[in-house]
Amino acid sequence: MKILVINAGSSSLKYQLIDMESEVVMAKGLCERIGIDGHLKHSPLVGDKPVFNEDVPMPTHSEAIAAVIDKLTSREYGVVGSMKEIDAVGHRVVHGGEKFASSVLISDEVMGAIEECIPFAPLHNPANITGINACRAVMGDVPMVAVFDTAFHQTMPGKAFMYAVPYEYYKKDGIRRYGFHGTSHRYVSARCAELMGKPIEELKIISCHMGNGSSICAIENGKSVDTSMGFTPLVGLPMGTRCGDLDAGVIQFIMNKYGYTIDEMLNILNKKSGVLGVSGVSSDFRDLDKAAGEGIDKAKLALDMFNYWVAKVAGSYAAAMNGVDAIVFTAGIGENSKETRKGICEYFGYLGVKLDEAANSKRGEDVMISTPDSKVKVFVIPTNEELVIARDTRDIVAG
Ligand code: ADP
Repeated sequence: MKILVINAGSSSLKYQLIDMESEVVMAKGLCERIGIDGHLKHSPLVGDKPVFNEDVPMPTHSEAIAAVIDKLTSREYGVVGSMKEIDAVGHRVVHGGEKFASSVLISDEVMGAIEECIPFAPLHNPANITGINACRAVMGDVPMVAVFDTAFHQTMPGKAFMYAVPYEYYKKDGIRRYGFHGTSHRYVSARCAELMGKPIEELKIISCHMGNGSSICAIENGKSVDTSMGFTPLVGLPMGTRCGDLDAGVIQFIMNKYGYTIDEMLNILNKKSGVLGVSGVSSDFRDLDKAAGEGIDKAKLALDMFNYWVAKVAGSYAAAMNGVDAIVFTAGIGENSKETRKGICEYFGYLGVKLDEAANSKRGEDVMISTPDSKVKVFVIPTNEELVIARDTRDIVAG
């Protein structure tokens, strides 16, 4: 079975074609500037076909999908003979609200329910819907599955997902913590259990997804019981450009003092805050490491804040679960920055964490970075959200 995985943004579309027998990625690519002019980078990963990297007109997502199918099946750049060889499509959808606690076969009814979640993710869900509709138009009755970022966190208990505001806002308006990065937390926690050789039902795991956006998840018995992002992906840890947790009074103070509208304020909190805002240097941890090494104090402060927050939130999850067996680092920073992992692990002495410095220096593979006698095990596990989407799609389509 071959599955096309699609992650559609408002002006971009990422894809992978995965052969499910071997779980090998046959081709991957990225459409950019959809609705503006259009550019496609398509990389065949099996055989010896060349990379295609050229402008292609893409007035809408439909032309983007058509261009992807054309390249996947073309004589020069293709990896399959025809569209008939693509058995199913898995779509990443950001917000499933309380309607979706797992992945689902897409139907008109499901599309209606995804549309009802638009108020919760006004930028992301419309783009995901556009991608699905374009795919349905171009690919006809090929079965399609929606995989939600929020679904994994639907197991959180009320005490974890409720905000302490009048209950009617939850009841009437759905105001609650939803959490994001669910597909990634699910993948790395399952992989962690495999690496430990134990059933996930017997483990307490803290998963730290640290990329441009960062979130931590407490996973008990294979289920998300708490997570640091909330109603939106703005909160929790300080991130590349997002502020993380913030006293609402600060928003009122700044808006009043500088006369900002709420949109201007949210733009500052989403795009100009986090480690970029504090350091004044960059949102990228590579730049921050370099700047801190050159003695720029605010870059060091931003990095210290990030490590401190990860340790603080992870510590609260060890308390919430009454213990922790393993801590996992993943995503751009988690997979690549040994300094950040070390800085965070230095807070975990009370848990009996002992870091293996040599293992912590490895890159690009699943690796245990704690010593064999470390009481709590620590892992680096490269995340693979596309594979989770493809596996869910296979399982649902195969019935
Ligand atoms: P996204 O959330 O957009 O998927 P990623 O998970 O790809 O992001 O993470 C991107 C971030 O990872 C970059 O902004 C950068 O801070 C960090 N990163 C990538 N490579 C390194 C590295 N070698 N050292 C430190 N940080 C890195």
